[in-house]
Amino acid sequence: MRRYDTIVVGAGPAGSTAAYRLASAGASVLLLDRARFPRDKPCGGGVTERAARLLPFPLDPVVEHVVTAADLRLRYGRQVARGTGAPIAYMTQRKRLDHYLAQRAAEAGADFRDGTRVTAVENGEGGVSVAADGERYTGEALVAADGVNGLSARALGLGGNQHVGVALEGNLPYAKLPPGRYHGRLVMELGTVRGGYGWVFPKGDHANFGVGGWASEGPALRGHLRRLCAAHDVSFEDLEELRGYRLPLRSARSALAKGRALLVGDAAGLIDPVSGDGMFEGFLSAQYASDAVLAVLAGRESTLEPYGARLARRLAAHLWTSWGIKVALDRFPRIAFSLATLPPVWRGIEAVLRGDVSDVGAVRGLARPPLKALAMLARATGNPGQAFREA
Ligand SMILES: Cc1cc2nc3c(=O)[nH]c(=O)nc-3n(C[C@H](O)[C@H](O)[C@H](O)COP(=O)(O)OP(=O)(O)OC[C@H]3O[C@@H](n4cnc5c(N)ncnc54)[C@H](O)[C@@H]3O)c2cc1C
Repeated sequence: MRRYDTIVVGAGPAGSTAAYRLASAGASVLLLDRARFPRDKPCGGGVTERAARLLPFPLDPVVEHVVTAADLRLRYGRQVARGTGAPIAYMTQRKRLDHYLAQRAAEAGADFRDGTRVTAVENGEGGVSVAADGERYTGEALVAADGVNGLSARALGLGGNQHVGVALEGNLPYAKLPPGRYHGRLVMELGTVRGGYGWVFPKGDHANFGVGGWASEGPALRGHLRRLCAAHDVSFEDLEELRGYRLPLRSARSALAKGRALLVGDAAGLIDPVSGDGMFEGFLSAQYASDAVLAVLAGRESTLEPYGARLARRLAAHLWTSWGIKVALDRFPRIAFSLATLPPVWRGIEAVLRGDVSDVGAVRGLARPPLKALAMLARATGNPGQAFREA
């Protein structure tokens, strides 16, 4: 049985980009996924500009729509339109995006085996091993990228989420929507779902309608989605491919690496608390993970453990702000909405989404006083993001 430099479990955005980076750097990589590709994954498919910038190859072949403006509404009442005209997000369909990413990894030299379910992972003294479909594979390092429902984190004694949110989404063909209504713009319906929001994302031939929030909102999600459809004068019954999924939010003290194994993407619980996005974090963790694996393969490090602290440091300020805005919107929706949608603040948020600044804390100028007010609201609710700054 061949021994690989790295075994990557899961070929979602995090796993495939890690496999691509490692294979491109000359490592031998085995990339396993239980699904047959192309496969779908419940997701809005929105890739922010900052996420796209992390990809080491162009995203264009799978971009269906470019979003340059946002309609932000509070409780289906007061609405503001924001956007500087620069791209905020590239809209994709996960079936196409994930297939494209896995193909890039395979072209770079990764041994991609889809339709291969991993049933056990082990992190030993002399390397790692993986059992899948009756075979045993061994390697120097393991990148666990098997998502929120994967087995790796638990089997390795890593990870740990403080919350696992829920979301439900479906698609509506443009033929059933007012012509041009969502062209170039996304919609965020804030204050409508506890711990989350509703959205409409434009794609190539349809728009994606979805709602997500705290896990306790699970039983109410269909009702929330009906309400979203009604607010947009469309029929809930016309939604196609309706499906739900979970959104993992890691706790500040969860371990992300041990010995020769590490977690990336949703397996690590890296969802952004306020937006529910996870692809930026998936691509970022893949980049940090491949650097850590290459350091071990080159003999510069003996374990992957420095990865955990490096990634946590990179995301700490971002998580503090994101958790803060989330709890402020939940507890004080009117005032938090008014502050977050002020033009200078929104320009700051857009700068973060584009990757021009690393987090809202780095935004300067007229946005500072309202951002400080938002931080005070967050503190008043006992911002759970504080723990990431202290970890
Ligand atoms: C409704 C919804 C909307 C969302 N919208 C957005 C959005 O618009 N933008 C955004 O950035 N993020 C969004 N997210 C979050 C985003 O979908 C995730 O963060 C992202 O998919 C994480 O990527 P990943 O590679 O870590 O895991 P996944 O995409 O979940 O991939 C994990 C892979 O592991 C495989 N796997 C699992 N178990 C095994 C096993 N035992 N053996 C082999 N393979 C296995 C699976 O088949 C899968 O292919 C949304 C999430 C939801 C639920």
